[in-house]
Amino acid sequence: MLNVGVIGVGHLGSLHAKMFADIPSAKLAGVFDIDSGRKRSIASECATTPFGSLEELLENVHAVTIATPTGSHFDVASKAIDRGLPVFIEKPITATVDQAEELVRKASAKGVTIQVGHIERFNPAILALEHYHINPMFIESHRLAQFNPRGTDVAVVLDLMIHDIDIILSLVNSPVEKIEANGVPVVSETTDIANARLQFTNGCVANVTASRISQKKMRKMRLFQRDAYISIDFSEGLAEVFRLVDADEQSSTPTMMLGEIELGARKRKIIYEQPAVKETNALRYELELFVKTVSSGGKAIVSGEDGLRALTVAHEIMEKINQQKLVL
Ligand code: NAD
Repeated sequence: MLNVGVIGVGHLGSLHAKMFADIPSAKLAGVFDIDSGRKRSIASECATTPFGSLEELLENVHAVTIATPTGSHFDVASKAIDRGLPVFIEKPITATVDQAEELVRKASAKGVTIQVGHIERFNPAILALEHYHINPMFIESHRLAQFNPRGTDVAVVLDLMIHDIDIILSLVNSPVEKIEANGVPVVSETTDIANARLQFTNGCVANVTASRISQKKMRKMRLFQRDAYISIDFSEGLAEVFRLVDADEQSSTPTMMLGEIELGARKRKIIYEQPAVKETNALRYELELFVKTVSSGGKAIVSGEDGLRALTVAHEIMEKINQQKLVL
């Protein structure tokens, strides 16, 4: 049984605490928040201990999750890692790339697991694609949200686009070669809408848009590759695959034939598949995997290095946006 402590029990941390209270392989040992009213009310809801200080929590647990505002991730995670405690850190891993590098270095020196809360990796639509060969050459992604003042202390790139950056880096097996980006602060002091074009050394291009000033919500990604078009709807947890296959190919997934194409002597057909999606609560699943990784050893599926890579690309995008000459 792994004793876990939750640090920062605001919007997301309170959900962490409720999940850990319900995961059989873990015990919610307690919570800490600098807002003592919040700390007591979540502790009472989850029937756990509201620790008096961060140090007291760290002395009484085997592992922690950190869901404080991003600006404090580095300080809080450093204290836990220095004590040899594994950490689950909400995304983005830290505010700056230097801090993320330092955390990854510290954790490696101590042999401690870092998992980063890039939750979309556990979206049922992404999990449904695990048996497909994915090698996209063009990606189009849109993450559009309605305005909410929470989170506007950081640019939309760090708040929303970083989810898609992480997914894209996990799907494209090639280094980023070039980044172009633009963005506009429309209602807040930081960028509210941004577009980035990531070019990879294997030729793949990803065109990524994130906005927090949309009327309608949308979280979609489309992948185009040799012989396939894959559409991912993160909001619906739905993946759709259109593939060009040999006319006699049998598929284990229920398939609808959309048409036939004759390419020289080769007869091919276009098929449509909706790979089965397992009912999954992505937050619960990523926290269960954290407990499993910590208990059995091994590397987290979304490691500190992954968090660092996504943050590095996000910062390069923000730098490009800052270099724009906007006459406002
Ligand atoms: P929030 O403001 O609702 O909660 C943060 C909590 O941390 C508050 O209760 C605050 O009192 C507490 N806190 C602040 N500094 C602290 C400290 N040093 N020690 C202990 N407690 C402290 O914020 P939120 O929306 O829950 O976001 C928290 C983190 O989760 C952020 O990093 C955010 O980017 C991330 N987040 C991730 C997702 C996701 O999809 N994975 C979604 C939302 C937020």
